[in-house]
Amino acid sequence: MSTRLKQGRLPEQIQRKLLRLCANTHTPHREEQERYSVRSAFSGEEIAYVYTGDERDVDFAFDRARQAQRTWAATPVKQRQAIFKDFHDRVLREREYLMDVVQLETGKNRLSALDEVLDVASNARFYANQAGRLLADHSNSGAFPLVTKNVVQRAPKGVVGQISPWNYPLALGISDAIPALLAGNAVVAKPDWNTPFSALAVIHLLYESGLPRDLFQVVTGSGQVVGAAIAERCDYLMFTGSTATGRILGKTAGERLIGYSAELGGKNPMIISADADLDRVVREAPSACFSNSGQLCVSIERIYVEAEVYDTFTRRFAEAVKQMRLGAGFDWDIEMGSLINQDQLDRVSEFVDDAVEKGATVLAGAKARPDLGPYFYEPTVLVDVPEDAKLRTQEVFGPVVFIEKVANLDEAVALANDTDYGLNACVFASSDTGWDVASRIQSGGVGINDGYAATWASVASPLGGMKQSGMGRRHGDEGLLKYTEARNVAEQRVISIRGPKGLSRKAYAAVMSNALLLGKKLRFLP
Ligand code: NAD
Repeated sequence: MSTRLKQGRLPEQIQRKLLRLCANTHTPHREEQERYSVRSAFSGEEIAYVYTGDERDVDFAFDRARQAQRTWAATPVKQRQAIFKDFHDRVLREREYLMDVVQLETGKNRLSALDEVLDVASNARFYANQAGRLLADHSNSGAFPLVTKNVVQRAPKGVVGQISPWNYPLALGISDAIPALLAGNAVVAKPDWNTPFSALAVIHLLYESGLPRDLFQVVTGSGQVVGAAIAERCDYLMFTGSTATGRILGKTAGERLIGYSAELGGKNPMIISADADLDRVVREAPSACFSNSGQLCVSIERIYVEAEVYDTFTRRFAEAVKQMRLGAGFDWDIEMGSLINQDQLDRVSEFVDDAVEKGATVLAGAKARPDLGPYFYEPTVLVDVPEDAKLRTQEVFGPVVFIEKVANLDEAVALANDTDYGLNACVFASSDTGWDVASRIQSGGVGINDGYAATWASVASPLGGMKQSGMGRRHGDEGLLKYTEARNVAEQRVISIRGPKGLSRKAYAAVMSNALLLGKKLRFLP
């Protein structure tokens, strides 16, 4: 493909090619469907359109996905792995095109778009390499050594539903589907309204690598209709989005008794210890807070600083933030792009205005930048934020952070944990202090001398939210095994588990008890 796009509309031929990948483009009632405009975050203008799917489209997608899954589940794992190894290389080769599409839809800066490409490649590589090990039959010591042969097999769940948000539409549109597909499942996905083409562009590359088309179905449409219909039909639900929606979908999953993974919101703290390397903190903190214009679930929104270094850090950080280069476009040197749309601009402005009206002091930002584009908002640093300001406890999901002075690290840890969320946290400190603080933080990920990228990119380890930030984990072994059913198969050989024929029940009780006692003592039982 190797296409570069211009800012503006998505070229007709690319739009048509990608639209054809939507299941709802092929349904018999397609003529009745309304079009929905996808808009450029840089200009607000329409860049392309998608069709508004409904329950019939979801039925259509599930029918085809279920049929395809039966063949796929019987396809050797090595063959599945080969497709994802090819996909890994293809994604990296096509990075410029993928970043163009992501930037057009989201308005993010190029580096944040690159993060998405790297995430997809990392997940493809990791799970393509590990699928053989994870899906292989696993022998365990059985009830009785030698006479009971026991094996755990991993069977796919069936059709996995995936509902994803707009903030990382390329990565979240496919990265969680990769282990699901490798495990032998089909996937029916609903990307967000605002950003369907990022997901479609990368899924198209997976088809080019050889994935059977019907195995990964995309239905575009609203969360309330298409998202809810997917949750009602799938055999496992993978959701990324807000805690409010996560709760609604959790009810559906609970009623249907299907497995459910929810990657939800956060109110992520940074702790700065007096023994931290301040030059490094000032270099790293802007990206920890303002990558993707702060529209990042793991973004830092609260900073707690030990008193000894509070004044110096606060002054230097605010200066660095004021120097950040904002802009619309594909240039690499733009440090922060736009918010995605008017709703996000209103949301961020309301949070900041509320805090300022209640007495917060602005050290940087706190204003929209219509001169750069309709949805730009400056990276914002606040201090003296009063207790009743909404942004003290609620997730802003925008480029806004507040700083607070603490007497010591114990106070910092207590404040960091004083939240309903538990997604990401980070601590800047000497290594020993950092590991000590990390062990006391109630959060699914903790970075030491790094905001969020080191934990996120360490794909061999599970990552997710504690408390209201989610349930289940992505990445690591758990990120694939959750899409499987463990099947416990035991073959009883030579003698029955109730002992040889003719053994009385009383004798059986004595033999069993003595065998268990001996087994524990001599450690021949697991
Ligand atoms: P959202 O919950 O409004 O939407 C997410 C997805 O769910 C969209 O595709 C939407 O159409 C769909 N949806 C909405 N209502 C639905 C319903 N009733 N039934 C089924 N589907 C429905 O979230 P958002 O505002 O788009 O995304 C921002 C939120 O996502 C933030 O809270 C952010 O922290 C969180 N997030 C979390 C992670 C993570 O990995 N933990 C990653 C990205 C974003």
